[in-house]
Amino acid sequence: MEEERQKESIDRGNRVKLLKKLIVSTLVMGVTVPWVLCAALFVQTTGIRKNLETERGEKQELSSQIEELEEIIQKQEEKIAQVTDQMSEHEARMEAELQEEIASIQEELGAEEQETVHKVYLTFDDGPSKNTNEILDILKKYDVKATFFVLGKPGKENEAALKRIVEEGHSLGMHSYSHKYADIYASKESFAEDFQEIQSFLQDVTGVTSRLYRFPGGSSNTVSDVDIHELIGYLEEQGVVYYDWNVSSGDASSQELSEETIYQNCIAGIAGRSNSVVLLHDAAGKSTTVEALPRIIETLLKMDNVEILPITEDSEPVQHVKAEKSEN
Ligand SMILES: [Zn+2]
Repeated sequence: MEEERQKESIDRGNRVKLLKKLIVSTLVMGVTVPWVLCAALFVQTTGIRKNLETERGEKQELSSQIEELEEIIQKQEEKIAQVTDQMSEHEARMEAELQEEIASIQEELGAEEQETVHKVYLTFDDGPSKNTNEILDILKKYDVKATFFVLGKPGKENEAALKRIVEEGHSLGMHSYSHKYADIYASKESFAEDFQEIQSFLQDVTGVTSRLYRFPGGSSNTVSDVDIHELIGYLEEQGVVYYDWNVSSGDASSQELSEETIYQNCIAGIAGRSNSVVLLHDAAGKSTTVEALPRIIETLLKMDNVEILPITEDSEPVQHVKAEKSEN
């Protein structure tokens, strides 16, 4: 019995020991395992965090690099804009300079061209006549202005023709009142009297004070009893310029010339000149002059650098006898 009891107590002791061991090991495990797991977890999270931090750092670095790059790009763009500005400024300056140069060259060319323009003055003596209106019609058709050296011919139709000459922009010149050589050139006084008569007649009819004169027969006429220089001096005193001619149509001839001859005389006469004063007549017997006129104008208009103009006080005078000789 005793033995059994001893055995039982030994067994119990063993069981208790085993239980204790179990309890201890359970406790150890229960404490150790979570700790180990915690440690492992900690190590892992630290690694992840580190990784994250590194990534974040890399990201930050990248974005700061991007910012830097953007800044550089902006600066470059600014520089480009600046350079572009400077270039366009430079271009504008260059263009302005070029324009200036072109303008000055054009001006020079224009001046040269003006110098080389051949001025042709069509002049009609002895009018008004029954042909005046027809001549004016032709001039109007071609839009050409001419000069009429007229005589003192009162009467409704003549006066209307004089007014038309002025109204249509032609120059009105004087060619004496009477056209009678013997009377006009008898003395300086008779010349002056005739001059006053024609000037005031034209003034009354047209309102224009003419300052242009053509001597009957020209300043080189051989019929004057008075030295022509005296008469030239008189005209100068009156503030009047006299105009002869350097191209003759030949229509002054007592024999009527053909339209063709008048045309040829005019065109041949102006060749090689730079200032042509063409003598034509506005008179009853000179119908071939009227016939030749359209062809003369058409040919002149087709020529390069030819300009058909009316005589004014500023036109370059063509004079057979020069005024300076009156001082000799
Ligand atoms: Zn005449």
